[in-house]
Amino acid sequence: MARPTESLDPEDLKEFRELAHRMVDDMVDHLSTIRDQPAWRRMPDSVRDAFGDPLPREGEGEEAAYGRFIRDVLPYPNGNIHPRFFGWVHGNGTMLGMMADMLSSGINPHLAGYDQAPKLVEFQVIEWMRELMGFPESASGLLVSGGTMASVTALAIARNAKTGYDVRAEGLQSGHPMLTLYGSTETHNWAKKASEFLGLGSSAFRQIAVDDRYRIDLEHLKQSVKEDRDKGHRPFFVIGTAGTVNTGATDDLPALADFCEEEGLWLHIDGAFGALAKASPELANIVVGLERADSVGFDLHKWMYLPFDIACVLVRDGRLMNESFSQSASYLANISRGVAAGGFPLADRGIELSRSFKALKAWMNLRAYGIEKIGRIIHQNVLQARYLGERAEADEHLELLAPVDLNVVCFRFTAPGLDLNAINEEILIRLQEQGIATPSSTVLQGRFAIRCAVCNHRSVFEDFDLLADSVVRIGKEIAS
Ligand SMILES: *Cc1c(COP(=O)(O)O)cnc(C)c1O
Repeated sequence: MARPTESLDPEDLKEFRELAHRMVDDMVDHLSTIRDQPAWRRMPDSVRDAFGDPLPREGEGEEAAYGRFIRDVLPYPNGNIHPRFFGWVHGNGTMLGMMADMLSSGINPHLAGYDQAPKLVEFQVIEWMRELMGFPESASGLLVSGGTMASVTALAIARNAKTGYDVRAEGLQSGHPMLTLYGSTETHNWAKKASEFLGLGSSAFRQIAVDDRYRIDLEHLKQSVKEDRDKGHRPFFVIGTAGTVNTGATDDLPALADFCEEEGLWLHIDGAFGALAKASPELANIVVGLERADSVGFDLHKWMYLPFDIACVLVRDGRLMNESFSQSASYLANISRGVAAGGFPLADRGIELSRSFKALKAWMNLRAYGIEKIGRIIHQNVLQARYLGERAEADEHLELLAPVDLNVVCFRFTAPGLDLNAINEEILIRLQEQGIATPSSTVLQGRFAIRCAVCNHRSVFEDFDLLADSVVRIGKEIAS
């Protein structure tokens, strides 16, 4: 019998090592010269066409595969590593984070658990995040892919803990009272998606009005909970947001905590980016009260500047995570010694079984730079946002459309007698297409806003001058 001996390790290691070194050099060059490149480039059609090839039957080799990356992929990402990327809420990544991802893929451990150092790295990162957020030692947590998964996980745990029956066994199909949850109209749309995904139904998500600073209106919330109770429904979950995606507003978290305590409701804080304000002594007061929540979800790939994807969910009563997710299976038996000792504690805290070693980039970044430096850069972003807000207020051609509570600035070009929604949309597109900067947009009270979420460790104040000047210049060009 022939004994095939193929593997996927490179045939020529010397050649591969050279290629690998070139990859590192190319990426460090790319990142260190990113400011000189356009903020975004539209892909030419020839590049789009390059992605129509059929499944490769025979390989073309590592060198050729890398060549395609350099030619067709590297120049055309969405651009969030650029110093003038201010769109949506994306992080930028760090060079060390990039290398940590390489190391993590290099050792490629399985992070369900096992008796291994990478598990301890993850435990330690979770513990550091617990400390940062001011949660008690009884809390537990998990690293997940994003703010959405963090909040979905928290919602599933709260649902199981608060229904008053064994929802794991019975599901939601057995004629119990309707479960209802609450968040403001400014809540990120994960809440609707999660309500649908977890079988609660999007109609169970009550969207509560906001005040003039885009914070949840507590009177409306109280009234809505009462009405649902009067109807025989079962309110169980309230979402407070620390840093809304539209305007960066933070709900009155202490008041929400008081209300949820009185009513026996689970308080979850969506702190996707805003929770990281805890890292800055100058900003921590904005999110005070967060530490009283039953759970919090936040991204480390946004305002902790790590490469995608990494986020964290913390649950105050740590046992509830396991009570929601632990399973037993003969192929996952907990054996007292050997690799499987200690079982699969991370798989028991969430829905995923195979999990990557994303903790490493957080662990190395925190070790290398410390939370104080990260906090200073977060504060720097807030100062930059305030600066842009002030420029928008001071310039007769610009108008600030929402208060700058944290790091989100919504503004527009303005001039008498014009269709401002149409003109500002055109300005936004030209800013992007000309590679000047990448803000995104939103609509506030019917008004199209150019929206900047400032969570970019590479931005300098002059970048905001260039943005404001360009908005005025392009606005005038279109108007004339
Ligand atoms: C980005 C964001 C989310 C979603 O987080 P992902 O990491 O994109 O899944 C949720 N809530 C808020 C407030 C956000 O800014």
